[in-house]
Amino acid sequence: MYNRILIANRGEIALRVIRACREMGIETVAVYSQADVDSMHVRLADQAFCIGPPRSSDSYLRIDQIISAAEVGAVDAIHPGYGFLSENAHFNEVCRSCEIDFIGPTPEAMEQLGDKNTARSIAVASGVPVVPGSDGLIEDDHDAIKIAEEIGYPVLIKATAGGGGKGMRVASDPSMLKTALNQARTEASAAFGNGGVYLEKFVERPRHIEVQVVADLHGNVVHFHERDCSVQRRHQKLIEEAPSSTLSAASREAICAAAVKMIRGANYTNAGTVEFIVDKDENFYFIEVNARIQVEHPVTEMITGVDLIKEQIRIASGQKLSRAQDQIPCIGAAIECRINAENPDRNFQPNPGRISGFFAPGGLGVRFDSHIYTGYTVPAYYDSMIGKLIVHRETRGEAIETMRRALRELQIEGICTTASFHERVLTHPEFIAGRCDTKFVDRELIPS
Ligand code: ADP
Repeated sequence: MYNRILIANRGEIALRVIRACREMGIETVAVYSQADVDSMHVRLADQAFCIGPPRSSDSYLRIDQIISAAEVGAVDAIHPGYGFLSENAHFNEVCRSCEIDFIGPTPEAMEQLGDKNTARSIAVASGVPVVPGSDGLIEDDHDAIKIAEEIGYPVLIKATAGGGGKGMRVASDPSMLKTALNQARTEASAAFGNGGVYLEKFVERPRHIEVQVVADLHGNVVHFHERDCSVQRRHQKLIEEAPSSTLSAASREAICAAAVKMIRGANYTNAGTVEFIVDKDENFYFIEVNARIQVEHPVTEMITGVDLIKEQIRIASGQKLSRAQDQIPCIGAAIECRINAENPDRNFQPNPGRISGFFAPGGLGVRFDSHIYTGYTVPAYYDSMIGKLIVHRETRGEAIETMRRALRELQIEGICTTASFHERVLTHPEFIAGRCDTKFVDRELIPS
């Protein structure tokens, strides 16, 4: 097992990894930007190195600086968290060449899955259903029009290098398709340096269901059940829950089995998430693999009782999976609300600044994963998520009641947060009935 791990991240996920390491008797090395001098991850780690100015391109994305910190700190491994360099195959490769274990998949698996069109081909080859669409990248607008006619409008144009909903465009007729193709290519080139796009049928009112999978270096693969992440605003997840409240037992089993097939087909190791969209008839289609730990992993931890970060660390160090498939329970219902420093009444505009007062909710079944404290200043340079409120109860109905109560208890003064918005979702009849699709928030809760 490792003696020391560097965490190439900040915020709540850096704390989450430090917590797992401490319980495992592993020392931690934090890295931080000049904007994060007063951050909790810097305080809680055993050692910390400043790696540059506030902007992430000058600090958290600087591979050279992170590797230097790893060398000086003499670490055995690096945990990348999510975001930043977590899905950067080049960084992963550099770690390998420096003989530092990267806590995640191999660079090869990461590279393949990072290209969504390649991931789609692996899914097809593995017998996992994909959304009807183009066989490969769109080279020519005429081909696109032909394919769109075959699969039927509306269609969705997706960037092969895409992420975070960027480069996606819906088109409902040939002339719109031509314009949207150009827009998607331009947006994708600017955002990812790769303008490759492909087509998928636009599935109306889908649910977003994803499966947590963990694979060791010895060929063992297990799933940790599914999460429903349909409550999204502009393709960004707001609320996640486990298990799915509406899928039939047969569909849940089929979707989890498909995820395991995908992971095997991609020679994937460590923790990963296979994402699907599900239509109203419970047909499910693969959309992508997230080759890292995800923001929403705690809901899975709550229903299974397994610490996924510890599992990641053990697996990266060469240990076998700690349990077989039939030893992974699915108990009760868990919900997570992402608390962002944003003003929901002003189009979710980021609202960084000093937190003048803070009280964390508690009580049975409540978990708050966050790095904030009274007097902490949320910097303007990074993602606006400042915490995750997670509840776990015996039934979904009780989990909703506990979440509503916990949201009211949560006190964050000095900045606006999305907590009040979550209260609106949690009291909406469609959410309570478990009927949300991925457009529910945009349709029902955001005035247009
Ligand atoms: P990204 O990597 O940019 O987040 P994804 O492929 O994961 O893109 O898709 C993000 C979201 O877009 C999904 O959660 C879903 O809400 C929606 N989406 C993706 N593919 C389709 C599709 N074919 N039809 C309808 N909605 C889709």
